Amino acid sequence: MSQELLKVEQLFVEVEKKQILHGIDLQMNAGETHVLMGPNGAGKSTLGYALMGNPKYEVPGGAAVFQGEDLLAKSTSERAQAGLFLSFQNPVEVPGVSLGSFIRSAMEQRGEKISLWNFRKAVRKQMELLQMDESYIDRDLNVGFSGGEKKKAEILQLLMLKPALAILDETDSGLDVDAVKTVSLGVEEYQKNQNGALLIITHSTRILESLHVDYTHVLVNGKIVATGDASMIEEINACGFERYIDRA
Ligand code: ADP
Ligand code: MG
Repeated sequence: MSQELLKVEQLFVEVEKKQILHGIDLQMNAGETHVLMGPNGAGKSTLGYALMGNPKYEVPGGAAVFQGEDLLAKSTSERAQAGLFLSFQNPVEVPGVSLGSFIRSAMEQRGEKISLWNFRKAVRKQMELLQMDESYIDRDLNVGFSGGEKKKAEILQLLMLKPALAILDETDSGLDVDAVKTVSLGVEEYQKNQNGALLIITHSTRILESLHVDYTHVLVNGKIVATGDASMIEEINACGFERYIDRA
């Protein structure tokens, strides 16, 4: 039997006292890939931030259970420790903290003990896959990184941390064709070889080409108005969101 990973029930989310999400229901099993689509401003990133526990995003109602535990009762770092990962739409720059030490301390916080030697070895292997120059491991996190390098750094974190669920918020946006392919390779590695579950927020099908998709959801005006299989992605790309907007 498939194992329940995340169950979101009637989740309401407010930003600065304004209600953005109006009763979200979402259920995911271990290892599944779900795609979340929707027009700009629908609330997709808000859902990611609320699940991750960003304090700006208040949850006046609803429930979220992750691996059998109440997610909403946990702090952001406790959620990360529990195996939840969010790749940001706009990754922040962190001067004074190298990419390598950032990943290693995140791994330590998750209770993973790894020698510096083995860490370097593992990180090198994943950087090779992502076509990142090794020198980036000693550079300050995201400082002076190009848009594509920031996204690759996010996927590197994903591959090293091996979360149970990764939320990718437009990880493919603003990338050139080759960078999308490389990022997609990294995500495929996480999906297939680490059996990771994914909630992929995207406007494009390019990152999805080599990935298996179990479900697609459409978010309009803070509500999930439709759920279907992978074929919905093509349908939306051909016809847009118009037929869904009436349902919100
Ligand atoms: P999407 O990711 O689907 O494009 P968002 O979740 O970013 O949509 O935004 C949904 C709505 O919430 C928008 O109207 C946006 O302006 C508002 N919103 C999101 N985050 C904030 C914030 N930190 N401060 C103010 N408004 C916000
Ligand atoms: Mg967004």
